[in-house]
Amino acid sequence: MATDTALFHSTRSTTRMCTAKQAIRKGIAEDGGLFVTDCLGEERYDITHLAEKSYQEIAQDVLQLLLPDFSTEELAQCVERAYAEQWSDERITPLHQLGSTKDFVLELFHGPTCAFKDVALQMLPQLMSHTREESSADGRNVMILTATSGDTGKAALAGFADVPGTSMITFYPEGKVSRVQELQMTTQVGENVRVCAVRGNFDDAQTGVKQIFTNSELTDSLMNDENTVLSSANSINVGRLVPQVVYYFAAYADLLKRQVITLGDEVEFCVPTGNFGDILAGYYAKMLGLPVKHLVVASNSNNVLFDFLVSGTYNRQRPFHHTVAPSMDILVSSNLERMLYYMCNKDTRLIQMLMNDLQQWGAFEIPEDVLAKIRTLFGCGWANEDQIRQAIADCWKQYQYVIDPHTACGYFVMQHIPHDESVPRVLLSTASPYKFPRVVAEALSLEVEDLDDFHCMDAVSKVTNTKIPAMLRNLENKTPRFTDVIGIEEMPEYVREHAHNIAL
Ligand SMILES: *Cc1c(COP(=O)(O)O)cnc(C)c1O
Repeated sequence: MATDTALFHSTRSTTRMCTAKQAIRKGIAEDGGLFVTDCLGEERYDITHLAEKSYQEIAQDVLQLLLPDFSTEELAQCVERAYAEQWSDERITPLHQLGSTKDFVLELFHGPTCAFKDVALQMLPQLMSHTREESSADGRNVMILTATSGDTGKAALAGFADVPGTSMITFYPEGKVSRVQELQMTTQVGENVRVCAVRGNFDDAQTGVKQIFTNSELTDSLMNDENTVLSSANSINVGRLVPQVVYYFAAYADLLKRQVITLGDEVEFCVPTGNFGDILAGYYAKMLGLPVKHLVVASNSNNVLFDFLVSGTYNRQRPFHHTVAPSMDILVSSNLERMLYYMCNKDTRLIQMLMNDLQQWGAFEIPEDVLAKIRTLFGCGWANEDQIRQAIADCWKQYQYVIDPHTACGYFVMQHIPHDESVPRVLLSTASPYKFPRVVAEALSLEVEDLDDFHCMDAVSKVTNTKIPAMLRNLENKTPRFTDVIGIEEMPEYVREHAHNIAL
């Protein structure tokens, strides 16, 4: 192991060090902490020639800085495979100007499942497949298990399909996901992937998966009989975080190209946030030298982050709201732990204490000086259900631009938060409006009460004169490949049965 390689350790202790490859393979540290490196920001990304670079070139540069034990050739192959024809826009994450304002929307939804998780989940499997050769203990195949409430499972399936050395099973709660979401998953192609409905709700499925990870009889037999280890594709994985840093630089490059800014000018980003992954990537970009003035956290009514950034107390003990922006319905924003680590000067003992408090009491409070420091960079706001719908309508009326309910949280916050008019702002758009066609149609005052989701898509398309992504509209006529439905208690056996489905 080269000593000049950035090593990773847990946010909660520094006793065990590992390489980026090992961190990606493990996902989460043994003590429950998140993998971080203390080198972050020591080496900066030289942005002098950013405007001349393609998305893929920027990705290669940023990944090399953050994952130094991958070779240039390995990363080149990963980038080539992750950001290719499966994207419906060759710019990967194009920037859209709102009217003639200095406000822009960064469209992160042109990947194979029409939502922003594709940016990371097209890359993670590629990175994962290169973590294999390093040592004999890591010479095994990786089987990814996920429980999904709808969207992440599909994005992960699309990413892992036919990636060498990997296989994947996604469990989802029977009858608890939308028809579009279910069809998106059950029609997934790839010899190494499977989708299975389980009888129960999302938490049951999630618990079932967690129990499999700690079922040593099963994991031992997978290792011995199938040469396979289990892993997950959580948003806390370093391999999901790092690819998201890229589009902050790509957005800056685009603003340079358009001559909205000149080199070194500051930009503000507004980010619809749930697990704090997407916005954390913006913080990493800033630490790598990107001129970021503010990062604005936009929440829905599950506004635990808003309260935290205002008061310094994180309190998950509160009612849980099912909102029209479901991918942000989260009360424990796992990736926040990484930001806290850097903001409290890498004090692993403090982080461990805070996380103990969270587990034991459901809340923690950070020191005042840390809060003050966080607040110089992070702004915050949130939108309730009516405000989300109103934002979709307003954005359409004002700029003839259709946004989805998650993006709408950010749009609402941008319209209401004070800001310096001379600083350009970029709103990160996390999903195609056609992934949430009913809410969008209703917000635009269309009569869709009697229509199914596909006809809601048609109604939105007709009124706004925008194209429905074929991948979504064509689902209506597709036949599911996967129709298995099992009980929670059958999950371990199901995993054992399908463990040989590894892609070569
Ligand atoms: C996952 C998701 C988010 C939240 O992203 P985090 O990284 O969890 O903050 C926002 N919008 C959509 C559509 C998502 O799928």
